[in-house]
Amino acid sequence: SPKRLAQLLSAHNTRPLFDSVEAFLFDCDGVIWKGDKLIHGVPQTLDLLRSKGKKLVFVTNNSTKSRRQYAIKFQSLGLSVTEDEIFSSSFAAAMYLKVNNFPQQNKVYVVGGEGIIEELQLAGYTGLGGPEDGEKRVQLKSNFLFEHDKTVGAVVVGLDPDINYYKLQYGTLCIRENPGCLFIATNRDAVGHMTDLQEWPGKKVNLHVVYNLDNFVSLQFLFWISGAGCMVGAMCGSTEKEPIVVGKPSTFMMEFLLKKFQIDTSKMCMVGDRLDTDILFGHNAGCKTLLVLSGVTTQSTLQDPSNIIQPDYYTSKISDILELLGQ
Ligand code: PLP
Ligand code: CA
Repeated sequence: SPKRLAQLLSAHNTRPLFDSVEAFLFDCDGVIWKGDKLIHGVPQTLDLLRSKGKKLVFVTNNSTKSRRQYAIKFQSLGLSVTEDEIFSSSFAAAMYLKVNNFPQQNKVYVVGGEGIIEELQLAGYTGLGGPEDGEKRVQLKSNFLFEHDKTVGAVVVGLDPDINYYKLQYGTLCIRENPGCLFIATNRDAVGHMTDLQEWPGKKVNLHVVYNLDNFVSLQFLFWISGAGCMVGAMCGSTEKEPIVVGKPSTFMMEFLLKKFQIDTSKMCMVGDRLDTDILFGHNAGCKTLLVLSGVTTQSTLQDPSNIIQPDYYTSKISDILELLGQ
């Protein structure tokens, strides 16, 4: 359905938005930080929101860390955020199993990182694979018998920088040989991006001219990294199945956090940098939505006629709220 165009956040509309919202849901990468760097003005913005009694929730599709590991990351950036305010797609995968009464005696095969393994463990499940299978190889010979654990009842796929044919083969057998085996994807983000040239010496990168809303022009070194959609796509290819997605924009995480916080979604504002995950996630739940241009989406992408996902509001970064409220 045609949606009205996003409004630029202004001194007129920020106060009514702020007053009507009880909980702010923040995406992390591109909103709170970029990789390991805090985005300008974030601590002051979160402090103000907390001092006005707003609930803060952090929702990230990045499955490489557990909630415990994210709490440490927040602390290392000087932000006091507790584990129970964090909803990562790694946690969502474990909670999906729990909510659906997945038996504790069944094992879970992981194509992904340590974050998923830890969340499974904390939920009482045994995760196989993950980083442990990073060095394993398959011999494609007729006398090679590929053994897999027949008690695996779910395969979870997330971003896995050490993905290999062994893990894909393992997950494929679990899913193809057991029709009841769940196929869960933490998220399907196609790509993410890295922006700090210094951390990537010798890498060929693209220089991007970025026009900010305040006409401040900056140059950024930027290159794409393949997201979890790459690993999920590989598993779809060999299983001929589609996964259950637990990260944004799926509604699973929203339903889960609504049970915990019991706030009407019309009094929530989802703040994100991506249209097809964050803004859609907010829309699907009936939240207000705010797009920030401090991450992967540019103003020209937002305003391109081919873009059909319009947030309610947009602004360059979350700390604009401070200025617009006159704080
Ligand atoms: N998945 C991976 C592997 C990432 O590196 C990122 C961003 O850095 C994301 C997903 C997206 O995370 P978020 O939902 O916090 O933007
Ligand atoms: Ca993001």
